[in-house]
Parts: sequence; structure tokens; C-alpha cells
Amino acid sequence: MRNFIIAGNWKMNTTPTTGVELARSISDHIPPHTGVKVLLFPPATHLSHFQQEFNEADFEYGGQNVHWENSGAYTGEFSPEMLLELGCKWVIVGHSERRKFFGETDQSVNKRLLNTLNSSLSPILCIGETLTERESNLTYEVLERQIKVALENLTDENAERLVVAYEPVWAIGTGHTATTDQAQEAHHFIRNVLAQCFSGELANNIVVQYGGSVNAGNALELMSCPDVDGALIGGASLKPDEFIRIIEIADSLGG
Ligand code: PEP
Repeated sequence: MRNFIIAGNWKMNTTPTTGVELARSISDHIPPHTGVKVLLFPPATHLSHFQQEFNEADFEYGGQNVHWENSGAYTGEFSPEMLLELGCKWVIVGHSERRKFFGETDQSVNKRLLNTLNSSLSPILCIGETLTERESNLTYEVLERQIKVALENLTDENAERLVVAYEPVWAIGTGHTATTDQAQEAHHFIRNVLAQCFSGELANNIVVQYGGSVNAGNALELMSCPDVDGALIGGASLKPDEFIRIIEIADSLGG
């Protein structure tokens, strides 16, 4: 049984002060007793404030990136232990913006994922094709490669904490979301590839979120797809009313 996960990726937005205010306005309106898991990913500069303000809140939070080593000469990076000490339970690994702007590859994503799973953090692994790849009919080849390389050397045991986010790059921040047919087809394909990597039961239990211009207007149809288990949300997660509405929609679909 998979529960919905609604996650907000704030990227490089808000300051520590405005971020705490935003998180508070979200936290105050999360439906009580919901089965939906709510996650926030603020910039790393906010995490110690989150630890002070939100250790009793109805959401969990995490980092937007993590390194494959636990310490060393890696300017600008941080380790699982550092995130854990600030109360993080989660981390995003392999976001397309990290791949595009910071040179992340499937291989480095694999190393970051392995180090995450060697700690007690849970990762959201982001995968997705570019527009050129979709238009060249390479979507499924790309998704399969991204999954299989990212998951190399993972075991069934540590993959229990894995969450995957299907984020077509052409849909991120563009207002062009995938159609329900495109989303369902991709999610179904991803679940089949996961079943080649792990036991069928485990693959069936892995939450696969959709990401790419999700908002309160399209969340219902996207999350009604049988293989879509929630959403990873950028822009709309910075608007508390809209983000809460998406959580309420997930709640109405049964958590
Ligand atoms: C994202 O950054 O993961 C994302 C899906 O962004 P947006 O919702 O703005 O498309």
C-alpha cells in the first residue's frame, strides 16, 4: 500500500526568515490526521531554523542535495550526517537542475544515492527526459538508463526507503505539464524497471511522484493516475494556499 507524498522543493528561494514564515503558513493548514506525507526542501541555510521551529510539525524536511563522501575537501557540499544533525529525514538526489547546472551525471547520482542510503536519510531520486529526448522517442531509453545506473549496487533492504520522482525536464517550471496519459505511461514504465532491479513486491511499494508544473488546477487529474503517488512541486510550493490545496486533493484521494 503506497501513501501519497507531497513535497515542496523551494530551490534557491526565500531567506531563512521568510522561509520559516512560509513553512509556518503551510504547517498550520495541513489537514489533521491525513495519510499524506508532507515534505519541505528549503535551502540548506534554513535547516537549523527548521530544526528549532518545526521539530513537532506535521511535515518532515530535508536537503536539496547531498555528497557521496562523509567529509573532506568538497567546497559547497554537505554530508548525510550534517543533514541528519539538523533534523533532516530526507534529501533530493539528482534533480535535473543539479544535472544541468552542476554537472551531475547518472554515476554521481548513484554515488550520492548510495551514501544517502548508508545513512538513515531517505532519498527522492529525480529522473526525467528532456524535450529533445522526448521528441526523438528516447524517453523510455533515458528513463531506464537513469534508473538502472542510479540504482546500481542498491539492495532490496536499503531500497525500502527509496522514493522516485518522475520529472520530465520540459515540464519543470514551464507551465507545460505532462498529460495524464504521458504521466501514467511513464510511471507504469518506471515501476516495471524498478521490478527488474528489486523484488516485485518492493517495486510495487516504491512511491513514484510526478513533478513538473503541478498546481492546484491539475493535481487532481495527475494524482488520479493509478501509478502516480503524489507530487514533487517547485513553483506552487512557494504559494501556501496552492500547496495546501494540493495536499487536500491528495488527502481526498485517500492519502
Ligand atoms: C521541481 O523543481 O522539482 C519542479 C517540479 O518544479 P515546478 O513545480 O516549478 O515545475
